[in-house]
Amino acid sequence: GRLVVAVDGPSGSGKSSVCRAAARRLGAEYLDTGAMYRAATWYCLETGVDFDDESAVAVAVEETPLSLSTDPDHQKVWVGESDVTHAIRESRISEAVSAVATNRQARSVLIAEQRRLIDAAGFVIAEGRDITTVVAPDAQVRVLLTASAEARLARRGAELGGGQSAEALQRQVIERDVRDSAAANFTEAADGVAVLDSSELSFEETVDSLVGRIES
Ligand code: C5P
Repeated sequence: GRLVVAVDGPSGSGKSSVCRAAARRLGAEYLDTGAMYRAATWYCLETGVDFDDESAVAVAVEETPLSLSTDPDHQKVWVGESDVTHAIRESRISEAVSAVATNRQARSVLIAEQRRLIDAAGFVIAEGRDITTVVAPDAQVRVLLTASAEARLARRGAELGGGQSAEALQRQVIERDVRDSAAANFTEAADGVAVLDSSELSFEETVDSLVGRIES
């Protein structure tokens, strides 16, 4: 039968790499919903949409010819013919993405597409900010992956390399958390959602713990 695993968590909680590794190990598909918000933002920037114009942003998101693979070994994101897999990770995207994430109409377009992709999959780990609560509240496994601010900062720092000061990084992570909370509340686990705190766990231990919850 179908098995849906919903995982939410803030940026820097390591949820993308943890979910991808768990999906790989279990032979599941993997849906990165953040990549969808990022790709829609890439399209808004590409087409020069005025981010202050909410309905223009919603229209652009609706028009975004977005496609993405759910193969954990082969994560690719396209907008039309453009492979945006790497471009959507640029900081210009991270800085603009809240304009899409806080746009109600844009969210409902992306949520509908996420539900379609989840329904099309047999066994899927879907990851984001509102998967356990809004996108797939009836998922068989629902997990909130958290980590202390210190742990998340350290991981972001390792990810971005030595280019930025600790303060600049800290500001970025905290600012995005604040902006994200306005769009989707992920700081507290909803009823029936298990909390997996990775602060004191290695990457492998975190993957083991998630896999254990899915298998049990
Ligand atoms: O997970 P990632 O950091 O790539 O997500 C990028 C942005 O997309 C987040 O900062 C958040 O604003 C938004 N997002 C969201 N809901 C989701 C996934 C991502 O609002 N389910």
